[in-house]
Amino acid sequence: MATVETKSKSEALKESLFLQHKNGCLTADDGFLREAETFCEGYKDFLNKGKTERLAAAQAAQLCEEHGFVPFDRNEAYAPGDKVYVLHRNKSLIAAVIGTEPIANGVNLVAAHIDSPRIDLKPNPLYEDAELALCKTHYYGGIKKYQWTALPLSLHGVVVKAGGEKLEVHLGDQEGEPRFVINDLLPHLATEQVKRTLNEGVKGEELNVLVGSYPFRDDKGSELIKLNILKLLHEKYGMVEKDFLSAELELVPAHAACDVGFDRSMVGGYGQDDRVCAYPGLMALLHTDTPKRTAVTILADREEIGSEGNTGLNSSFLPYFIDDLAAVQGTKGRHVLSRSVCLSADVNAAFDPTFPDVLDKRNASFLNHGVALMKYTGSRGKSGTSDASAELMGRVRSILDGAGLSWQVTELGKVDLGGGGTVAMFLANLDIDVVDIGVPVLSMHSPFEVTGKFDIYTAYKAFCAFFAAEL
Ligand code: MN
Ligand code: MN
Repeated sequence: MATVETKSKSEALKESLFLQHKNGCLTADDGFLREAETFCEGYKDFLNKGKTERLAAAQAAQLCEEHGFVPFDRNEAYAPGDKVYVLHRNKSLIAAVIGTEPIANGVNLVAAHIDSPRIDLKPNPLYEDAELALCKTHYYGGIKKYQWTALPLSLHGVVVKAGGEKLEVHLGDQEGEPRFVINDLLPHLATEQVKRTLNEGVKGEELNVLVGSYPFRDDKGSELIKLNILKLLHEKYGMVEKDFLSAELELVPAHAACDVGFDRSMVGGYGQDDRVCAYPGLMALLHTDTPKRTAVTILADREEIGSEGNTGLNSSFLPYFIDDLAAVQGTKGRHVLSRSVCLSADVNAAFDPTFPDVLDKRNASFLNHGVALMKYTGSRGKSGTSDASAELMGRVRSILDGAGLSWQVTELGKVDLGGGGTVAMFLANLDIDVVDIGVPVLSMHSPFEVTGKFDIYTAYKAFCAFFAAEL
């Protein structure tokens, strides 16, 4: 005989009154999980091909081209359904699908960033010491420096030579290519080092990367190891030492993204903050056909250092783009911005049971609970955040619920324990309604960050629903 399950009065009442964050994988249908799996294959490919801001921007531009987007012409009048993109200084990208409504009604904007913490070569990097060739580095973004030692690294970037010729350098990601490494001290002799604080365990000026050890053998003299490296660089790239000054060379982990876990439920890899939001944000736009409101995805550089610089969102390239779109429709950019809504798509700290003390469990995000809405970030008394309005939270919530998606609410961490920011406040400064939303990440800013496939695909679905929304 089958038993009939009946809910008690309190259970039924709880179901209707309590906020219940659940593991979305419990209720997702098989099709959704299969789609998530396929989607994450494309995502891992994006991670592997786009480890730096330049590579990610180029990769995004290529995906735009493959989906019928054309370079934006500011004098052109675009019709509903037209698809355009701007590759901005090779480091950030704006793409848009023109909607049927006049642009004066505002646009739906997803903003993510494609720069990640990394190790840059200094302007005068190369030196020889104790018969080893090394390069001095300067880290970019917030890193725990000890995590970057004894780790195979690859080198990416550009060098502008004396005549103005620009060459690209990509070395260390492909099978069979040499890699680079920042050495650490052996534990046997680390008695003094291990007494340092974790923050000082490896100091900024100790992040010296090993690049060679063979001497130039045809002559006698000093600095023969360095000479041999410069000879090789000259043979391969036509470079001289002075060219380092007009170069941007970035060291990133050489490993490829991969599945994590016996169940393959997670993605592990470098640079997921914030490509785990950038990729879903871009793909959602590429899959948008003639929306009502013009749909825009922006992939920005410089977020990890405060969005400064003319490829970051604290500069004017986004409002200039909106100005140009507005002008051909006979309206003003600021009128468009004031009526626009933005999802600031950035990652948040997933609850880690090994470090439970830093998060308020009632306001933390969990892996596989879906995309996480952050009303505010910042630190201390909500310093350095735009703090989305209740009205906007209401609108976004109804879009997510309307699409039947799993989502959760989160803060960045416990009050007064630290904090951080996103691009949200810079967009809010343009009078755009903006709220943070993104994928929870474990080991954020480390060389190997971990995310949940379910959450990644849910983010994509959320951005699709947002672009389709009328608002
Ligand atoms: Mn981020
Ligand atoms: Mn970050």
